[in-house]
Amino acid sequence: MPYQFTFDLSTVPHFFFSEIARISYQKGMHKKFLNTLQDVITKFRIQEATGLNLSDAVVLLQDFIDLQAVNLIERRKFLNSQKRVLLLPHCSRKYMDNRCKASFDASIPSYTCAHCSEDCLVNKAESFAKKKGYDVYVVPGGSCILKILKENPYEGVVGVACGEEVKMGVAALQNMDVAVQVIPLIKNGCANTAFNMETLVNVL
Ligand code: SF4
Ligand code: SF4
Repeated sequence: MPYQFTFDLSTVPHFFFSEIARISYQKGMHKKFLNTLQDVITKFRIQEATGLNLSDAVVLLQDFIDLQAVNLIERRKFLNSQKRVLLLPHCSRKYMDNRCKASFDASIPSYTCAHCSEDCLVNKAESFAKKKGYDVYVVPGGSCILKILKENPYEGVVGVACGEEVKMGVAALQNMDVAVQVIPLIKNGCANTAFNMETLVNVL
């Protein structure tokens, strides 16, 4: 399920995401966690940059922090995993209409990128991941993930999606013996969405 609000963090300095990582270390031992969150929102002018109200900005940041915590907890197991898969969201394709030349296999279901646009995020991510030995699926929704994982013995899973989708995906995978790394979108909206390529490269 997508967020009930739209956001675009693509103009926020990268230092913001380092700050998120730092805070995620403190979560659980920091008594004034919510205050810290609100301080970060003010410091990086998140409301001005995104147009979000404070409570939506808090929800968004809390998800970023929760997901960063998942990455930290799972990292060692992930690094020891052998067969890995990257799951990309179809909404990050450069085009969502017939200008996207990807073929769609409904039986998986997944798109196969035809590399029509060099500046397409999905193209860049898929090309990089394949060189690193990952299988890659460009999925139209989170419900496809279980099907893909049940039919393929992956040990490591990297999932890119908006925070809400990623959280549901992580919950669904809890009973499966896979190591998960997640990359939340920095711009949602279900079309022309964005993730940070540098983050993806670091995670992979
Ligand atoms: S590069 Fe791939 S995913 Fe992007 S628009 Fe072209 S075919 Fe679609
Ligand atoms: S923003 Fe993308 S990942 Fe999130 S719900 Fe919409 S289509 Fe799915």
